Amino acid sequence: MGFNIAIDGPAGAGKSTIAKRAAKELGFIYVDTGAMYRAMGLHILRNRIPKDDEQAVGQACMDVKVSIAYENGEQQVYLNGENVSGEIRTEEVGNVTSVISAYPKVRKKLLHLQQDLAEKEDVIMDGRDIGTCVLPSAPLKLYLTASVRTRAERRYQELTQKGVFCELEEICKDIAARDERDMNREVSPLRQASDAILLESSELGIEEVTSLVVGYAKERMEKGQK
Ligand code: C5P
Repeated sequence: MGFNIAIDGPAGAGKSTIAKRAAKELGFIYVDTGAMYRAMGLHILRNRIPKDDEQAVGQACMDVKVSIAYENGEQQVYLNGENVSGEIRTEEVGNVTSVISAYPKVRKKLLHLQQDLAEKEDVIMDGRDIGTCVLPSAPLKLYLTASVRTRAERRYQELTQKGVFCELEEICKDIAARDERDMNREVSPLRQASDAILLESSELGIEEVTSLVVGYAKERMEKGQK
């Protein structure tokens, strides 16, 4: 069994940035579960399957193969053997994904893939239900969050730096809608696990949060060895 770190939190809280940095410092593998759900979302979009048709989405996901691999330490996501790591990063894919990831069939499909990875390796895994459902016995769980406004502003900066035209108010609305769906779905809703450490990052920088995460990890690993 690897040493597992679970990081959950809402969209745009900085989970992937922090988890990637902390993984590098600790020599762990970073597993971005959102990317796996996004690959499913992309499949649904490409095949023009209505996102609200749970049965059709569930059926389409049964036949699809999502896998991950690492190139130069970076996670790559494959959809039926095609590397889709770049294509899954649009707002459109994110919004469809947050609808279809509420469906039990979609979640079941990815749960084992995530648990198998954590079984074999030391991982930092981020998502929405890692501490509560995927790795309930992880020795370190973190819940990373920030206000809707802060998260929207960060996303706005990121997109405009990439030259993507966007409006802050639209991003705010999208993030609030995704929070609402992720937190209120019946299966695996986004929740802070009762034994997770809360990290409110609105007033903290990337370096500060990363060093907190690395510090907690080292402390827990030492404890585990005693
Ligand atoms: O983390 P990211 O924004 O890339 O995730 C995209 C969407 O995938 C989320 O809005 C959420 O609905 C879904 N997701 C999930 N469970 C996870 C990871 C992501 O439901 N473990």
